[in-house]
Amino acid sequence: MHKKIPLVLLTLLLSCLSSLLYAAGFNQVQISTTSAAQAPVMIQGPMPIEAEYFASLLSGVRTEQAGNVTFYIGKLKGFPVVVAQTGKGLENTSAATAVGIERYRPQAIINQGTSGGHDPALEVGDIVLGKRSVNASNFKTPFRKAGTGSAPLEWLPMDLLASEGSAGEGDSAKDAERIRYYMGNEALLHAAHAVKEQYTRGKVVEGTIASGNFWNNELDRIAWLHAQFGTSTEEMETAAAAQIAHSYSVPFLGIRVLSNNLTNGGHYDPSTAKDCQQFVRLVIEQYISSLTPATNNK
Ligand code: SAH
Repeated sequence: MHKKIPLVLLTLLLSCLSSLLYAAGFNQVQISTTSAAQAPVMIQGPMPIEAEYFASLLSGVRTEQAGNVTFYIGKLKGFPVVVAQTGKGLENTSAATAVGIERYRPQAIINQGTSGGHDPALEVGDIVLGKRSVNASNFKTPFRKAGTGSAPLEWLPMDLLASEGSAGEGDSAKDAERIRYYMGNEALLHAAHAVKEQYTRGKVVEGTIASGNFWNNELDRIAWLHAQFGTSTEEMETAAAAQIAHSYSVPFLGIRVLSNNLTNGGHYDPSTAKDCQQFVRLVIEQYISSLTPATNNK
């Protein structure tokens, strides 16, 4: 027993040596699993003019469809990016956000595109960074008798996430009479501020993005929303995407260019959609470069 040990070791050593000598004659490739796959950044835009330019910036693109949304999956400077052309409005955007998160597990989402100004100080071409977004179509109407009409400027805000109870009747209803704001992610806001001087079409300001399946052309209503909700600009998507992103704890920011502003005579200019995407490109590149080498293995 005692004498057998060195013999076993010698046999083992010889067999290892011979397999090494044998393997040395072949080409080798070594792979390791130490670097995890990088989670993508997701850029959402409702209409083709608000998504296709960004999709054209990606390399190695493939597309996937889910309902009304088209996902463009590719890379920007080697970093994984998914562009989602969501379609217009709250429902398309909510669905696109949930499906997009479930499928691609993005580390951050930016919803961007055109909008209509509520603030007379903002010109067509200016960009609003969504410090906050709000659903400006969630309302509860106070009671009015038949024959007394409708008074939209008396409507109350309604928060459908206030409780699981009724928002309209009973004990839980009063709690629901409040405005819910979705706050923009600080790291994404920081990246946007870092590159805002490079945007030349207009100013870049922080503000409140109002969303709803509404195109408001009543100046008194716009002024009421601006005063009561602090809205800077309106569109139909950001707050829906923000709500779903927050429910999954995915960092989120809305970035909206003014394509029109009724409050100061700013006519609709669809070319702003591309300007917005060009700015968002700068934001994304800045955001990517701010990630630590451990999380950014491009
Ligand atoms: N005028 C456009 C129609 C846009 S429909 C056209 O003819 O092609 C609405 C889309 O534009 C939505 O995706 C919404 O987010 C955005 N939008 C731009 N300005 C808006 C405004 N003043 N009110 C509401 N949505 C606006």
